[in-house]
Amino acid sequence: MATLLDGRRLAAAIEARLAAVVAAGRDQVGRPPGLAVLRVGNDPASGVYVANKEKACSRVGILNLGSHLPGDSPAATVQATIEGLNADPAVDGILLQLPLPPGLAEGPLLAAIDPDKDADGLHTLNLGRLLKGEPGPRSCTPAGVMALLAASGVTLAGKRAVVVGRSILVGQPMALMLQAADATVSVAHSRTVDLAALTRQAEVLVVAAGRPGIVGAEHVRPGAVVVDVGIHRRPEGGLCGDVRHDEVEPIASALSPVPGGVGPMTVAMLLVNTVVAWCHRHGLEHGLDDLLP
Ligand code: NAP
Repeated sequence: MATLLDGRRLAAAIEARLAAVVAAGRDQVGRPPGLAVLRVGNDPASGVYVANKEKACSRVGILNLGSHLPGDSPAATVQATIEGLNADPAVDGILLQLPLPPGLAEGPLLAAIDPDKDADGLHTLNLGRLLKGEPGPRSCTPAGVMALLAASGVTLAGKRAVVVGRSILVGQPMALMLQAADATVSVAHSRTVDLAALTRQAEVLVVAAGRPGIVGAEHVRPGAVVVDVGIHRRPEGGLCGDVRHDEVEPIASALSPVPGGVGPMTVAMLLVNTVVAWCHRHGLEHGLDDLLP
C-alpha cells in the first residue's frame, strides 16, 4: 500500500517556517512582505483559488495587496495595473491569476511583471534561469512537487523519472527540476505512442495531463512514486486527479492524493517565492534554500 504524500501537512509546516521568517524580519524591514494577486473577470474557479491564496497569506503574515479588475478591462488597463505593482515598494510578489477572460493574451501581460516580483515563476527570464540552473523564483506547482518528494525522502539522483504533460505551467519546468536533481527524465504528451509502456519504466512518475483518471494500474511500475498534479471537479461533486487512485495505491510505494497533495504545495510555494523576494530586497537571511529547486 502506497505511503501518502501529504501535501496538506507539509504545506502547514512550510507556512510555520515562513511565519517565523516574517516575524523575525518584520521589525528590521519596517513592513511585512506584500503579495498582489491580480484577478481579471469572474471565473468562478479562480475566485476559489484567489481566496485560498489570500487566506494563506494572512496565516503567515504576508500583506495581501491584490486587485480585481472587471472582465472587460482592456489589455492596457491590466498592463498599467501591473506596472503600478512593479513600482510599488510594498509589493514583493505579483501573481496574475489565470485564465484571463477571452480576448486578453496572457503572454504580454506575464512578460510585463517585474521578473524579481514574479511570484509564480512563469516569466520568460525566470524559466530561462531555471533552464540554466541560476537562482530565481521557481514555478510553484513543480517546485511544490520537488518539496513533497524531498520531504518524503524520495531520492532522485540516477532515478528514471517520467513526466506526463509538457505545459509551460507544469510539465516543462517539472522535467527541468527533476533533471537538475540528477534524475533521467522523459516527457510524455498527447502525441506519445504507448503511454503505458513509457510510464511503466518510471521509478518516479509525475502526471500533469489534465485528463481525469488517465493513469491507472497498467501505467505504473510496482514500487513507483506517483505524483498526481491533475485536479478536476467530478460531475457528482468532489475532486479527482489524473490518476485512478484506487487502482494505483496498491501498486505504488508512494502516491499524492487529490485533494491534499500537490494543490496545497502550490500555494505554499507561492508564499515561499514572496517571502524570499522580500528577504532578498532587504538583505535578510531566510534559510529556505532547501525549498528552492
Ligand atoms: P495543460 O496546459 O492542458 O497541459 C496538459 C499537458 O498534458 C499537455 O502537454 C498535453 O500534451 C498533455 N496531455 C494531454 N492529454 C494527454 C494524453 N492523453 N497523454 C499524454 N499527455 C497528454 O495543463 P496544465 O496547466 O499543465 O495542468 C495539468 C493538470 O494539472 C490540470 O488538471 C490542472 O488543473 C492541474 N494543475 C494543478 C495544479 C495544482 O496546484 N494542483 C496547478 C496547476 C495545474 P500536448 O502538449 O501534446 O497538448
